[in-house]
Amino acid sequence: ASVRTPLVVGNWKMNFDHLEATYFVQKLAWLLRDAHFDYKRCEVALMPSFTSLRSVQVLVDADRLNIKYGAQNVSVTNQGAFTGDVSADMLARLGCSYVLIGHSERRKYHPVDDANIVDQVRAVLTAGMRPILCVGEGLEERREGIELEYAVSQVHDVTRDLSDDQASQLIVAYEPVWAIGTGMVATPSSAQDAAKAIREDLAQTFNNHVAQAVRILYGGSVSSKNAVETLDQNDVDGFLVGGAALDADEFSLICRLA
Ligand code: PEP
Repeated sequence: ASVRTPLVVGNWKMNFDHLEATYFVQKLAWLLRDAHFDYKRCEVALMPSFTSLRSVQVLVDADRLNIKYGAQNVSVTNQGAFTGDVSADMLARLGCSYVLIGHSERRKYHPVDDANIVDQVRAVLTAGMRPILCVGEGLEERREGIELEYAVSQVHDVTRDLSDDQASQLIVAYEPVWAIGTGMVATPSSAQDAAKAIREDLAQTFNNHVAQAVRILYGGSVSSKNAVETLDQNDVDGFLVGGAALDADEFSLICRLA
């Protein structure tokens, strides 16, 4: 698809306890090993619930798996009287490589303003992990024909004050809200249009080097049936997978297709 190493991320949302998570990781590792999967050619990451992260860490370390993992949310503060929150340092200590930020389900059920998202991005970068910033238009913006501007400005507003170094660590997930969990997939060309527009804005805000370094994923009802065409697009560097990441056979197939 591109000059960048593809990345396939499985977002488990609020599914799998730590025992189910352990079983899944073992099965996925076995399926990929059996298929002689080359982790240097495509990165694979899983986003379990907080309660499963430690189990995933222990398994990945013990079996020296190449599978990466991360969290679905993070606090903007590092410690103190913030009952129920989990800090970026805590996640980094658990070996997390990535943290999802601004997933549409968090924006919907736990409305956070863009200032909070900026601080989450900074907290993740400071702790040495990579933020996966989720953006994407709803049906309303698509009907109005402003989906590209909408997604571009969501990235722009959050990232414009980062340093070049920080910006080059970013991963962006373009996920049209109407495509998440609905079975409706964006066409490969509209995923490409959005990814290209986001990359062009990064080149303008930072520079071409940064824009070429940032991986832009597509998310929204990705499956093994629609993955190949989307990943053929120049600016699409992988997937953020929800529903299809709950089945190890299907998810391993998507990894192999990428
Ligand atoms: C997601 O959770 O980010 C997602 C894209 O879900 P699904 O693949 O189920 O649409």
